[in-house]
Amino acid sequence: MRLLITGGAGFIGSNLIHLLHRERPAWEVWNLDRLTYAANPQTVARLARLPRHRLICGDVADPVCVAACMDVDAVVNMAAESHVDRSLEDAARFLQTNVLGTQVLLQEATRRRIPRFLQVSTDEVYGEVLAGRSGEDSPPAPSNPYAASKAGADLLVQAWHRSHGLPALITRCANNYGPYQHPEKLIPRLILRALRGEPLPIFGDGAQVRDWIHVEDHCRGLLAALEHGAPGRTYNLGAEEERTNLAVARAILGHVGETGARIAHVADRPGHDRRYAVDAGRARRELGWAPRHRFDAGLAETAAWYAAERAWWEGLEPT
Ligand code: NAD
Repeated sequence: MRLLITGGAGFIGSNLIHLLHRERPAWEVWNLDRLTYAANPQTVARLARLPRHRLICGDVADPVCVAACMDVDAVVNMAAESHVDRSLEDAARFLQTNVLGTQVLLQEATRRRIPRFLQVSTDEVYGEVLAGRSGEDSPPAPSNPYAASKAGADLLVQAWHRSHGLPALITRCANNYGPYQHPEKLIPRLILRALRGEPLPIFGDGAQVRDWIHVEDHCRGLLAALEHGAPGRTYNLGAEEERTNLAVARAILGHVGETGARIAHVADRPGHDRRYAVDAGRARRELGWAPRHRFDAGLAETAAWYAAERAWWEGLEPT
């Protein structure tokens, strides 16, 4: 099996490649990544040590580059601009990578008759869910440009499946946490600030609720969808570990210990959804997948990882 993973030098992609190295050691992984700010050089250096991993530095929106690396048995598309705050400031790059990049990949995968195309999407495409949980058939209602670009990509994947018969499927996962996540994202940002004894910024009242899933559980869900999912189908992935941002910040302060860090409320972000929640029953029933990590233990492990891996993050811009 030769797999093309796009965006494999990022947070989830690098975790997936390490998981495949452990659990599917015979698989060859081609990793097409533009190596943006989101790809940490130390993550890339660790991936480079893995046998049967090949890094191709290039852009998913570049048809020539994509054509050169699709001699594979399956594609997992997770290359993306992924930070909501950046999408609010400048959405163009999000549309270029997340939407046009997906279209370029779909076109080449169709031309090559690739037997499996997995699109890695997000629960954010459903928008805010104040009560209950989004099912896979809930309509897209994205609230920010990042989510809108991911929803656009999902619609393209569905269209390519219907009109070209591409055996494509989609996963939509809840908020991830775990090792190798860029400190622009909530959990590592709060952990790093707690470790440095700095204020922990919390948007608004901090009552926004997210379902937190450990990145390894997400990666196992991706593997299950790749191996057992039905073409044309969408699978939600979630852990039923809902927490307010404030509760997450307080838990992090508890795990990091007394450093003088305190919670500081800051102005809320525009369009900030109060709650996301997906119903992951289909993935449990049809893929035999279930998350293994509980949030409290997983968060403690993650805080310990960042405390031990200072060299991984110390050179990055403080956020
Ligand atoms: P990330 O920002 O950590 O990594 C993205 C990777 O994509 C980086 O290595 C970057 O260099 C690469 N990339 C960016 N633009 C590219 C381009 N034009 N061509 C090739 N490579 C490019 O993101 P992540 O958190 O690992 O997310 C991966 C995927 O999972 C994304 O599609 C995201 O929408 C989805 N997702 C993320 C979460 C989450 O909580 N992080 C949850 C659900 C779904």
